[in-house]
Amino acid sequence: MFVLKGTTEIIENVKDGEIIQNGCPQCRKDLLLKQFRVWNTIFLIPYLPSGDTRTVYECVGCYETFDPVYRNTYINRGKYLNPTRKEIKELTETFSLTFIASILTCDNRPMESVLALLKEFAIKYNIDEETHEEKFGADFLSQRELTKTVFELYDLFRDCFSEELINIVLAQNVEYSNLIDLSEKETKVLYTFSRHWGLTKSEFEELRKK
Ligand SMILES: [Zn+2]
Repeated sequence: MFVLKGTTEIIENVKDGEIIQNGCPQCRKDLLLKQFRVWNTIFLIPYLPSGDTRTVYECVGCYETFDPVYRNTYINRGKYLNPTRKEIKELTETFSLTFIASILTCDNRPMESVLALLKEFAIKYNIDEETHEEKFGADFLSQRELTKTVFELYDLFRDCFSEELINIVLAQNVEYSNLIDLSEKETKVLYTFSRHWGLTKSEFEELRKK
């Protein structure tokens, strides 16, 4: 007798599966973590699950599935679905201050000097010190993960806001850095940040000359 055997993938719930609010890139509804399992079939009817699974996010609205590789992007976009002007302003300032602080704290510059420069930066670009009070404190400035935070903020901006906005931040930060006598190590961090945002070496050098 002829038996038609094969396999098919069936989507299943995951116990305590993660929910990403408003994470769907298509319809902005919530995403739910699920898994696909391969089932063996006979005459196209699944009869035995195999061990092979892969996780996906499934939208509760449009039922489209999405690759977990982009989890952080779904989370970022969900979080800033409809950002207010105030939110964007504060985030942009947070980005700038973290960026500058990360450069100034990478090479044993005295804390008073870091603080003075950071305050001067805030005044020059109309950043309200009170709103960002904690960023002018030793706790924030002595973090070892400041650079990592800058990269996370880069991703957040890339995911949620316009490229134009980040270009403004970058130009402003390089402009201010040009006023400071940066050490070789500090310049290197500035260069790394600029390269991360896609500036070429010559574009970076051009900005540094201004
Ligand atoms: Zn959807």
